[in-house]
Amino acid sequence: MQFIETRGNDGVKAKEVSFSEAILSPITSFGGIYVPQSIPKFDIAFLEKHKNSHYKTLALDVLQSFEIDIDEATIKEALNRYDDFDDPSNPVPLTKIEEDCFVSELYHGQTRAFKDMALQPFGYILAKEAQKRGENYLIMAATSGDTGPATLETFKNQKNIQVACLYPYGGTSDVQRLQMVTEEAENLKVIGVHGNFDDTQNSLKELLASEDFKAELEDRNIKLSAANSVNFGRIIFQIIYHLHSYLELVRQNEITMGENVYLVVPSGNFGNILGAYYAKKGGLPVEKLLLASNVNNILTDLIDKGEYDMSSRELIQTESPAMDILKSSNVERVLFDKFGAERTKELMELLNTTGKYTLTADELVLIQEDFEATYSDDDECEAYIAKYYAKQGYIMDPHTATCMKSYEQSTPKNLKTIVYSTAEWTKFSTTVAKALGQSEISTDTEALEWIKNNTSEVVPPMIDGLFSKEIKHATIVHTDGIKDEMLKFL
Ligand SMILES: *Cc1c(COP(=O)(O)O)cnc(C)c1O
Repeated sequence: MQFIETRGNDGVKAKEVSFSEAILSPITSFGGIYVPQSIPKFDIAFLEKHKNSHYKTLALDVLQSFEIDIDEATIKEALNRYDDFDDPSNPVPLTKIEEDCFVSELYHGQTRAFKDMALQPFGYILAKEAQKRGENYLIMAATSGDTGPATLETFKNQKNIQVACLYPYGGTSDVQRLQMVTEEAENLKVIGVHGNFDDTQNSLKELLASEDFKAELEDRNIKLSAANSVNFGRIIFQIIYHLHSYLELVRQNEITMGENVYLVVPSGNFGNILGAYYAKKGGLPVEKLLLASNVNNILTDLIDKGEYDMSSRELIQTESPAMDILKSSNVERVLFDKFGAERTKELMELLNTTGKYTLTADELVLIQEDFEATYSDDDECEAYIAKYYAKQGYIMDPHTATCMKSYEQSTPKNLKTIVYSTAEWTKFSTTVAKALGQSEISTDTEALEWIKNNTSEVVPPMIDGLFSKEIKHATIVHTDGIKDEMLKFL
């Protein structure tokens, strides 16, 4: 299958490209992104076929149904990355927390956040493609905490790939920072930046756009790629676990094949819920996709009112930082799917020039056919964490907690609900400790220790071991020092 551009074609770039081209060079005409020409069928017949499939078997079939130009052996090797998850026989466990509510745990990989689900196999495929073509790629990421560790982890020691991660110094949790600065490999660079996440991200954008830096890369024979969720190579892996979680419900005799379910997805850049949208479009029996966000509720406004307005908002720091996002890149793929390239280009241009766009009433109806949205503030999240711990002994992270309001308020029909858990509590332990009444605890070490000693939770070795690992990346610079550091590294 070929991949096409969300904002149409400029007559210079190729009108359509293969999967491997779309993942190596994800930028398209007019600043759009790539989407598949069509969505394969993930209907009852497909699901029946995989009723008893291992996750990797299902995954292989999903990838091959997109007819991607990656050979089967490479896909299989990429999928073997799931063997490093806690339970290789089932990398994504589904846990019952209410009679009709189940948590799909997407965080059982190395960095304890759902980013591993896609970045692990995606990184392998991207590196193999680069090696096959004999090309060298630089991947740069600005991270507020979860993307950085997962990106470093997947590309470490991969030939033909160099990775640089920029993080706001003081703006991540201790665990997230240590996950990055203790990574040791020749091809990795981690730079702390004085400033907040926006400053970090903006200086990265400036650097990547500067002709000067581009020339330096060209001199060194290095191309630029991207591992953020505008890369369809990540989205394709985010369709699989929605199908898998549905099949788990069937296997656990909680639903019969074909029964509709609600899916609740804590959302920021809209990649996770986009995977769910594609699964639904392919035929997965989903009643509604329920989007959960925090007080940066720009997506809630889009789905409730058809308004996407960045111009009247300031980003607010919350206890669910992976969802502190105003410019949510993957919404564009739904706009394209529903309204076509011309309208998508128009809306995205409005967003760039005025900071906002508004859907027509008819367009909003089409969005609401698939989506519904809620948001929770930090106090509500803490209350949900406390509630489900008290009630079920289940500890969830603050991102997952934003989903519980959707479950309690937006699932009117007598149907089962799947809530996606995007991070292990260990990544946000001070917030969890606070929710459990320990508001005086201020560091991750104390919080991990307290929760370990006072609940039945365990701290996995990859988190526990971080505090005694040697720091490999001590570089901390002001935004104007990033370029020099990068040139030294390259
Ligand atoms: C990245 C992330 C999200 C948001 O996912 P999107 O695909 O960007 O919507 C939510 N929770 C956690 C913990 C994350 O790391």
